[in-house]
Amino acid sequence: MSRPPESFTCVDCGGEAHLISFLPEDADPEPGSSLAYRCADCMERFDVVWEEDLEDDPETI
Ligand SMILES: [Zn+2]
Repeated sequence: MSRPPESFTCVDCGGEAHLISFLPEDADPEPGSSLAYRCADCMERFDVVWEEDLEDDPETI
């Protein structure tokens, strides 16, 4: 199980960008789904495509 971060550092102003997309409590987002974040300081919106377990090599399962 892995979940996207609730917030990350805004690349524009160094403030905190918070997740504004709804995430179900008991389910992970589908890989490839788009997650929206908005910076609390500069109000910049970031759309992040969620990719699960990027470090895992699918060939080794
Ligand atoms: Zn910002």
